[in-house]
Amino acid sequence: MSSVLNFYRHEELRALQPRPFKVFTERNLDRIPALERLSEERRFEMKVVSSVLPFRVNEYIIEELIDWDQVPDDPLYQLTFPQRDMLSPDAFERMADLHRREAPREQIAALARQLREELNPHPAGQVAMNRPELHGEPLDGLQHKYRETVLFFPSQGQTCHAYCTFCFRWPQFVGDKDLRIASTQADRLQAYLASQPQVSDLLLTGGDPMVMKTKHLLQYLEPLMEPRFEHVQNIRIGTKALTFWPQRFVSDADADELLQLLERLVRAGKHVALMAHYNHWREMDTPMAREAIRRLRNTGAEIRSQGPLLAHINDDPGVWARMWQTQVRLGVVPYYMFVERDTGARRYFEVPLARAWEIYRGAMTRVSGLGRTARGPSMSAGPGKVEIQGVTEIHGEKVFVLRFIQGRNPDWVQRPFFARYDEQATWLDQLRPAFGEQRFFFEDEYAAMQARAAATD
Ligand SMILES: *Cc1c(COP(=O)(O)O)cnc(C)c1O
Repeated sequence: MSSVLNFYRHEELRALQPRPFKVFTERNLDRIPALERLSEERRFEMKVVSSVLPFRVNEYIIEELIDWDQVPDDPLYQLTFPQRDMLSPDAFERMADLHRREAPREQIAALARQLREELNPHPAGQVAMNRPELHGEPLDGLQHKYRETVLFFPSQGQTCHAYCTFCFRWPQFVGDKDLRIASTQADRLQAYLASQPQVSDLLLTGGDPMVMKTKHLLQYLEPLMEPRFEHVQNIRIGTKALTFWPQRFVSDADADELLQLLERLVRAGKHVALMAHYNHWREMDTPMAREAIRRLRNTGAEIRSQGPLLAHINDDPGVWARMWQTQVRLGVVPYYMFVERDTGARRYFEVPLARAWEIYRGAMTRVSGLGRTARGPSMSAGPGKVEIQGVTEIHGEKVFVLRFIQGRNPDWVQRPFFARYDEQATWLDQLRPAFGEQRFFFEDEYAAMQARAAATD
C-alpha cells in the first residue's frame, strides 16, 4: 500500500482498509440496521416488492454510498432498495395481501412467478435470436448480435455484488432457471471465437464477471493470448463492481492476481476495457472507488462508462454533467447513455425519449470535448442500438432524428431516419415513421430476420 500513501489523506487511508463482503437479500432484509430508521410501512413495502423483483445489497453500499439522511430520495438508495411503485398498484396489492395474511411460501412464490411474467422478462428476443451455433449445435452462454462483438456469459459470473433495482437482466436473479443464460465452457467459447475471424471484440458480461474468482477468469482469458486469437483484439468486461464492490480491485485476496492478468493481456497486445456501469457521480466519491480506478488504469486497461438514464436516480442534466466531468478527471472515458429498457420495474424508472434527449443535450453543453465521447440516449432494441440524435422540424413536421449506432445489419448503421415527434413515447416500438411513411427503412428486413430465426428455433 506504500504507493497509495502519496495519494490519500490519513483518514482516507482508513477507508481503504479491507472489509468483509457482507450481503443482504430479501431473506434477511430485516437484519439491515440502517432500515430501523424507516417506518414499518416502508419496510413492509420493501418486503412485498422484493418477493417479486430481485434484491441484493451489501454493507459497503449501505455504510459508504447511501446517504441515509436523504432517504428515500437518495439516488444510491433508489439504485439498490425496492420501492412500492416499482410494481403496478394492482400487483403490489395482490402480493401485499398474501404477506398480510402470512400466506405459505409456495403461494407467494406462485404469485411472484405470475407477476414476473407481466413484466416483459424477455425484451427484444434476448436469447433465441442471438444465440450462435457451432457445428449446428446452439451455444449456451454466448450471444452474437453484432458482427464484430461476441457476448459471453460465464457461469461463475451469474450474480452481482448487489442488484440494481432497474436491472434489465433481472429474471436471471430470481431463480428462474429458464431465464438464465450461462456457460461454463471455456473450450466452446474458444472454438467459436476461432471460427469467427471477423470478431474483433469479446465482451464478458453476466451478471457481473467481476464476481468471479481470478482463477476462473484466467481460464477464459489467458488462452486468448495465443496466436489463433490474434483477431480478438479487444477484451471488454462489463461490470458494476467499480461501484458495488471496488474492493475487488484493491483489497480482495485475489485482487493483485486479477490486475496482473489484465496487465499481461495488455502486454500481449490486447485492448482491455472495463465497461463500467455508472449511474451517478456519487458512486465515485469514496476513496475505495477511486483507488480501484487508479489501480485498474495502472495495468494499462481502459475504463469506459455506460449506464441508463433513470427517473428517481439521474434524470437531471446536472447529474450527468458532473458524472462525466468526474470520470474524465479520473481517467474514465464516457461511452454510452442508455434509455431504460422495456422490462422489469421500467414503469418506475422510465423517462420519455424527448426528455431523455433534453437531458443528454443539457449535460453535453456543460462539459468539455473530453466528456462528449458519450453517445446517446441509445435504445438497445431488437433491431439494434438506436440513438436519438435530436428533435427538429422538417417541412413543418416536428420529428425525432434517429440513427443506428449498432444494427443487426451493419449496413443500417449511421443512416439518419425520422420518427414523428411524440412527447410521451419511451421506447422504439412506440415511435411511428415521420412524413406519412408506413414503415421505417429497416422494418421489412428485420421482420424477415425474425421469421428466419423463428423457423430455425
Ligand atoms: C451494445 C452491445 C454490444 C457492443 O456494442 P458497441 O457499440 O461496440 O459497444 C454488443 N452486443 C450487444 C448485444 C450489445 O447490446
